[in-house]
Amino acid sequence: MSETPPSERTRVKRHPERGAYDRATIDPILDEALFCHVGYVTDGRPRVIPTIHVRVDDTLYIHGSNASRTLRTIKDGEEVCIVTTLLDGLVLARSAFMHSMNYRSVVVYGPAREVTEREEKWMAQKALVDHVCAGRSDQVRMPTEDELRQTTILAVSLEAASANLRTGPPKDDEADYDLPVWAGVLPMATVPQTPQDDPRLNPGLEPPPNVAEYRRLPA
Ligand SMILES: Cc1cc2nc3c(=O)[nH]c(=O)nc-3n(C[C@H](O)[C@H](O)[C@H](O)COP(=O)(O)OP(=O)(O)OC[C@H]3O[C@@H](n4cnc5c(N)ncnc54)[C@H](O)[C@@H]3O)c2cc1C
Repeated sequence: MSETPPSERTRVKRHPERGAYDRATIDPILDEALFCHVGYVTDGRPRVIPTIHVRVDDTLYIHGSNASRTLRTIKDGEEVCIVTTLLDGLVLARSAFMHSMNYRSVVVYGPAREVTEREEKWMAQKALVDHVCAGRSDQVRMPTEDELRQTTILAVSLEAASANLRTGPPKDDEADYDLPVWAGVLPMATVPQTPQDDPRLNPGLEPPPNVAEYRRLPA
């Protein structure tokens, strides 16, 4: 597994102890997060758009319709910044000032490359489907050649990436520990609810185990 050393751009400066640059930290965050935000500059103005991603080895893939303004703008090597965040808990301190959140997030910088080679495009499309719901690509009708042609897939290398993590209880000022205020962490997680049948579902079809028992847990 390759290491990503911090560059001046990726090095976490505030709370440097929360920064991590190794892929063993970065990859599980990218893999657990369902979607990311893609930031780029267009006509001299910043723009940030949420989108689904998937990591395959050293590459992050995003996709969408050929009509997507975002994908059309960045597909020719435009520099992008991709961010994803997992919220793990609310850190409720005794003082308002010391409130925080426990989180794991990743920031990736790099040029976007359009995936044009059919084999890579197909692999990334399948990986995107399985990133959202593991095993789904084996259960559904996958894209036709025409649908694949209507889809733009972009790749961004994970060469310039950083992770930033906060864990643990609140850190109050020493004098505040005697305050009569409850303090601690309220854990947060993405928890699936009961699957809802499509109103047009054919009779006799049940959610498969990868849906009925869906869990979004750290890898
Ligand atoms: C969780 C999530 C996952 C998504 N996954 C994908 C994906 O995998 N592929 C994909 O193509 N699209 C995805 N979308 C939709 C995506 O965010 C864009 O809306 C869509 O791709 C159109 O992009 P565009 O650049 O053509 O937008 P345009 O319609 O050209 O955007 C014009 C303006 O509309 C507003 N706008 C656009 N999108 C949003 C938004 N999502 N929320 C609020 N305002 C918005 C912004 O102000 C933007 O500047 C996802 C959205 C969410 C919330």
